[in-house]
Amino acid sequence: MENASETPKPLTRLTEDETLFRDSVLEFARLEIRPLVRDMDERAQMPRALVDRLFELGVMGIEIPDHYGGAGGTFFHAVLAVEALSSVDPSVGVLVDVQNTLVANALLRWGADALQGRYLPQLASRAVGAYALSEAGSGSDAFALTTRAVEAGGEFRLTGRKLWITNANEADVFIVFATVNPDAGYKGITAFIVERGSPGLSVGKKEDKLGIRASSTCELLLEDCRVPSSHVLGEVGRGYKVAIETLNEGRIGIGAQMIGLAQGALNHAIAYTKERQQFGKAIADFQGVQFQLARAATELEAARLLVYNAARLRDNHEPFLTAAAMCKLFAADAAEHVTSLAVQLFGGYGYVKDYPVEKLYRDAKIGQIYEGTSNLQLQTIAKQILGA
Ligand SMILES: Cc1cc2nc3c(=O)[nH]c(=O)nc-3n(C[C@H](O)[C@H](O)[C@H](O)COP(=O)(O)OP(=O)(O)OC[C@H]3O[C@@H](n4cnc5c(N)ncnc54)[C@H](O)[C@@H]3O)c2cc1C
Repeated sequence: MENASETPKPLTRLTEDETLFRDSVLEFARLEIRPLVRDMDERAQMPRALVDRLFELGVMGIEIPDHYGGAGGTFFHAVLAVEALSSVDPSVGVLVDVQNTLVANALLRWGADALQGRYLPQLASRAVGAYALSEAGSGSDAFALTTRAVEAGGEFRLTGRKLWITNANEADVFIVFATVNPDAGYKGITAFIVERGSPGLSVGKKEDKLGIRASSTCELLLEDCRVPSSHVLGEVGRGYKVAIETLNEGRIGIGAQMIGLAQGALNHAIAYTKERQQFGKAIADFQGVQFQLARAATELEAARLLVYNAARLRDNHEPFLTAAAMCKLFAADAAEHVTSLAVQLFGGYGYVKDYPVEKLYRDAKIGQIYEGTSNLQLQTIAKQILGA
């Protein structure tokens, strides 16, 4: 018989500290974000005052150690924060997700002491980060990127055009991937830390999107942009490793965004169906509606278990590659189904902007596209199970 203290805990059981943290983020989201959601969506903008509040709340440097001014938390804390924020606004969820699971994460893992000492305190206190890998011609095939880095006299000069860069409008610090040697294929790829204001760096066109409209998605233009050699993240020619490893973790964050927004939609659907009367009673009294809600809640719970398990594996330093791909794939589909049902159960009111489910339905679609499309997650899972 196993000792009771060694019995694994249920995945959804949170520690006291995790519960307090999650509840405080949730309360913040309900009190301070909810009133802004519709306006931010319509104007496709996030007020800087809200970003400042996210720093004050301590969710912009969750895994950054205390001595750099961060919250000294775990990856799981970041997942809880992204989930809670996304239940109210997935645009805020992704801003916090990119900051923590991609940018701070890459610096913590790959940054030399001097880079960490310079940028982690900024990221924890005031600087927004962005992660610039994709280009017009390289999305799923990310390592076909063509942004060029040429070394000369103690610095690199970067030239190229990045596309789809989340947080680009707000960002002060960019992780930019470029190749030092196009003939070397993926082995030429190198990651650089580039500051806003660097000569030759500019933020270009902002995309007008279907969903997560308040999250900025922009072009990033590099024209002979000068970056000190000390700003290489990791090693020259090892940027592919930085990208692969951070994106493996980042996609757990996207899973968290998806379960958060699905929970938000489900909560709205439950409240509405209990209130809305047709045929002389609440529509939630019809078994047909109850079964649909029950199925949605089950799918969402399964997605949450996948996301939490992947995050717990990562914090436990256990392999999580397949778990991360599965959680993103499944959570994105669950979010699409649950938000679609929520629109359906609101009837005509689900189709208009006066109610929140229309927006969550639009927001859900991105989960199947960024940080590796659903087909690319399937490719990863297939490779693992087939041993190919
Ligand atoms: C809102 C938004 C925010 C984003 N934020 C960032 C960011 O911050 N940083 C960043 O670097 N990038 C970002 N991206 C880019 C995003 O990661 C890419 O859009 C994504 O990886 C897909 O690349 P693509 O758009 O070029 O599509 P493609 O790669 O052209 O794919 C098109 C279709 O073909 C399918 N496909 C491609 N290859 C295969 C294959 N081998 N097998 C089967 N199917 C395949 C795909 O699944 C997809 O359905 C963002 C994108 C969006 C829309």
